[in-house]
Amino acid sequence: MSESYKTELLKVDRGNFDPVCLLPAAKLLSEGELVAFPTETVYGLGGNAEDTTASARIYAAKGRPSDNPLIVHISEKEELLKVGRDVPEVALKFAEKFWPGPLTIIVKRAEIIPKTTTGGLDTVAVRLPSDEIARSLIRLSGVYVAAPSANKSGRPSTTRAEHCMEDLDGKIPMVIDGGPVKIGLESTIVDCTNEISENGVKKVKPMILRPGYITLEKLREIEPATEYDPAVIARVKNENIKAKAPGMKYRHYAPKGEFVIYEGDSEQVIAKINEEVAKMRALGKKTAVLATEESKDFYDADIVVSLGRRKDEEEIATKLFDVLRGFDEMGAEAIFGECFEFRGIGQAIMNRLLKAAGYNIVSLNGGKNEV
Ligand code: AMP
Ligand code: MG
Repeated sequence: MSESYKTELLKVDRGNFDPVCLLPAAKLLSEGELVAFPTETVYGLGGNAEDTTASARIYAAKGRPSDNPLIVHISEKEELLKVGRDVPEVALKFAEKFWPGPLTIIVKRAEIIPKTTTGGLDTVAVRLPSDEIARSLIRLSGVYVAAPSANKSGRPSTTRAEHCMEDLDGKIPMVIDGGPVKIGLESTIVDCTNEISENGVKKVKPMILRPGYITLEKLREIEPATEYDPAVIARVKNENIKAKAPGMKYRHYAPKGEFVIYEGDSEQVIAKINEEVAKMRALGKKTAVLATEESKDFYDADIVVSLGRRKDEEEIATKLFDVLRGFDEMGAEAIFGECFEFRGIGQAIMNRLLKAAGYNIVSLNGGKNEV
């Protein structure tokens, strides 16, 4: 399916927000059309989750493989019980604690959600966003809203309406501009369908399929048995570890230039990156460095961008996708990046960076680079 539209940009003033302004967008959703809209994590590309035509439109507009399931967005907590079935206690507890917010909970799929929305799976990923534009839009549309990130498949996720226009202009009828998003990384995904038997008693062992703003530590405060799916914490590409979230197996977030990440002591990393930059320059390539406030002045590359202060992981998360897209705009051909800590929000940052770099990470401090 290939459709063309004159994409309307609907500007929403958050300072003076009146949900009525969203009525044209809600109408489009209720008619099976697509709308890109802001959430607190990234911009989403929404369509009616109950309508197989709408999900087909989402896959077509993004160029997304149809075995990659969509997250279903709801506007009230109780709706988890409508789109899911046999919802376990732990899923309800997570919802109670973290919704509305940046957590996606996977439960068994209710019949109302067709398999086209879930990439053929019998489970469904569900989220209640906290962003008032997102939540009002879902409520007004009267439908559950399937919404992947509003980027062209493979490109960095969209954190501003301008990014959505870059990737989707002409392919969908409307983009809602609610300004830059707050968090900047997609939601944490926790799978609550993984049953184990402990001393003969069945229980759910929640598994994190995608790290995000809601960290392992926070989920463990509710359920200490929560773990990362092994594919999430793999620091090298390992074909033997199968990603449970189908989307995580695809190359993702990638800038157009060749991207390598260096891990090691700060001075070592700076020296090595400058050495590599010089080599690439000699070959006539446009070089770029993904740096931090602490290191940015030490690099000698064509483009040096700071993600913020190393300790301020929330700021780094907010800027990450914007900066990766910026490299494409500036025509960066050889990109070098620093490594961040693999814990807390850093785990989510490194998950996206490793994917963006196609797992191209070089360890300068003794090969810590294993799973
Ligand atoms: P995005 O929509 O771009 O935020 O990506 C959604 C992510 O959620 C992808 O990695 C999907 O594979 C994953 N996902 C959605 N539904 C499920 C599900 N039922 N089981 C496992 N992973 C899922
Ligand atoms: Mg995505």
